[in-house]
Amino acid sequence: MISVNEALAHLLELASPLEAEMVPLAEAAGRVLARDVPARRDQPPFSASAMDGYAVKGAEVELHAMFKVIGEAAAGHRFDGVVGAGQAVRIFTGAPIPEGAGFVVIQEDVTRKGNLITITDEPGDGDNIRPRGGDFFDGDTVSAPRRLTPSDIALLAAMNIAEVPVTRRPDIALISTGDELVMPGSTPGPDQIIASNTFGLKALLESLGAHVRILPIARDTIGSLTTAFSLTSGADLVVTIGGASVGDHDLVGEVAHNLGMERSFYKVAMRPGKPLMAGRMGQTAMVGLPGNPVSAMVCGHIFLEPMVRTMLGEKSIQPRRLEAPLAAPLAQNGPREHYMRAELQDDGQIRAFDRQDSSLLSVLAKANALLIRPPHDPARDANETVSYIRI
Ligand code: AMP
Ligand code: MG
Repeated sequence: MISVNEALAHLLELASPLEAEMVPLAEAAGRVLARDVPARRDQPPFSASAMDGYAVKGAEVELHAMFKVIGEAAAGHRFDGVVGAGQAVRIFTGAPIPEGAGFVVIQEDVTRKGNLITITDEPGDGDNIRPRGGDFFDGDTVSAPRRLTPSDIALLAAMNIAEVPVTRRPDIALISTGDELVMPGSTPGPDQIIASNTFGLKALLESLGAHVRILPIARDTIGSLTTAFSLTSGADLVVTIGGASVGDHDLVGEVAHNLGMERSFYKVAMRPGKPLMAGRMGQTAMVGLPGNPVSAMVCGHIFLEPMVRTMLGEKSIQPRRLEAPLAAPLAQNGPREHYMRAELQDDGQIRAFDRQDSSLLSVLAKANALLIRPPHDPARDANETVSYIRI
């Protein structure tokens, strides 16, 4: 048996960063920035008023000072003249500061009569001016790699970037295998169940930024599996579900081998999780996951997520390990790393569910964390600290 980390290292050898493509800014959220992007202008592009008020000379600002209002500056409409001694320009937030002025007295600190204003409240020290380039300068960059957040999108827009270089979405083909499987919405025969983890994995992989194709369910025959594989051309990664161990009906390895796949089987010291299959056919990476729904989903988090993040060129590829105190004691762990379905509670403690069978999707759906027990971890008391990842 190999450790989870050794298995992951093997899988990551199959994944490499994909090329970049340009996408419109409005479609770039959640994508991974592929290259540093420089700003195409200063922001603000001119010194601008931060408040509604009156722009005057800084040296003249004091309580009871009086000024004559000589014009107006609004956002998008600058005042073209020069502010001289004893003069003020009515100004609004976002308007360029007129030449000659160096201070904006906020309108709340001023009393106005006709064209005359008097500072009637202590104006304070802040000049209420946003300096040119105070947010960013022309050439300042948003640096790659980086998964673009809504805030990044706003920043790129302000930088006048209309198209963004992002890593192409990995194309992933998902093949479910099994005579017992039918698609959701159909009428199963008496011995059939619904293909479920196929859809869970699609959702997981798409949430990471992959483009996922669900192929027709392959029956447990060489012919049906061969047909399914023939539909994967163009994929960056083929993921099969089920049929990957050594039972009579587990034909995925055989068919992949016939199609020229150099493949390896890994016995991973992991629960849930069975032997994992991995290999490469030309440019296409292939991973065979166990069919048990919870095993497949946990393997999706632990193995497929880092592969997809690698393809997207991200730096941080593994789910972040966090720590929390146990809400209840845990028995000693066996020889395999155990990813226990658990609830991170509102009080910050973590509690593993009592039922940990790898077929129980209802338990997985209640879980918001996988509590990680190292191999041979001794029994743990309540309040001891354990590791987990969020799911
Ligand atoms: P296998 O790895 O093919 O031996 O499958 C192990 C278990 O997982 C069996 O109970 C299968 O019925 C079940 N299974 C396999 N594939 C899926 C799937 N896509 N959705 C739900 N259950 C599955
Ligand atoms: Mg099967």
